Amino acid sequence: MKRDLLIFRLLLPAVLVFSGCQAMLTATEKAATQAASIGMLHPSYAEAIKKSTGAVSRSIEEFTPEQEYYIGRSVAAVILNKYQSYTNQEANQYLNVLGQTLAQASDMPEIFRGYRFLVLNSDEINAFATPGGQVFVTRGLLRCCRSEDAVAAVLAHEIGHIQLKHGIQAIKKARITDALATIAAESARALAPNEVAMLTETFGGAIMDITTTLVNSGYSRSFEYEADQVAQTILRRVGYDPNGLVEMLTVMRKSLKKGETGFARTHPAPEDRIGEIQQKSGVKYAQVRTPEARQDRFMKAVGKI
Ligand SMILES: [Zn+2]
Repeated sequence: MKRDLLIFRLLLPAVLVFSGCQAMLTATEKAATQAASIGMLHPSYAEAIKKSTGAVSRSIEEFTPEQEYYIGRSVAAVILNKYQSYTNQEANQYLNVLGQTLAQASDMPEIFRGYRFLVLNSDEINAFATPGGQVFVTRGLLRCCRSEDAVAAVLAHEIGHIQLKHGIQAIKKARITDALATIAAESARALAPNEVAMLTETFGGAIMDITTTLVNSGYSRSFEYEADQVAQTILRRVGYDPNGLVEMLTVMRKSLKKGETGFARTHPAPEDRIGEIQQKSGVKYAQVRTPEARQDRFMKAVGKI
């Protein structure tokens, strides 16, 4: 069953990528059936794959919410393989209540299985958002937050990446072409176990593209600035002080050490982001004004994380 799951995780995302072409839809279904028939894929998963290809997309930008969810789930599995979750119920509950409120104020409040927020037990300053709506924030990054407005800014930035479909766009175009060619060739005949392994290698590439971008290389500067802009919009809609983002970035700038991984590697320098935010909004930073009750609940849940 564990092996089935692994195959499913590797196979499904790439299969979803292929659903852009109507002709490939049949090939995808065929491949899933064959993988099931030789025992490499549990029949129920083969059914799920076939079902998920039912909605036709024509390009990466047109993935269905269901397809994005399944891709995101595989990406989340990779992240949770690298980072441990922080098992503090109060902190996670706080992050979820706050995150759900912000997501509802975004331009994409409805996604297939909803948004989920989780604290990662790591001192590294980092956060990730998968295409399916899973948002991970490290304890290290939460320590850069001095107020709930700042935590809200972090979450709103990640929701921005999801809303703008940045994760999906990290899948290399060449990867899709290669994978399409492979599945077209292989689906014409029964697959031997080593050939299935070859297929899964190609399929896993799409997930690898996303996780490599999230964990190592980062998005382009323009994607990061766009996510910051979405964050500002969401914060204003909910009634948080948009200065929370600059406040968090100012603390982060002091906390980041040279050569550090995480945000230091995957995001533009905090001072560059601050400059961009202030230039776009035309407003100079002012100290965050946060109500006392808000500050109390922030301190209680994550203030001493
Ligand atoms: Zn970002």
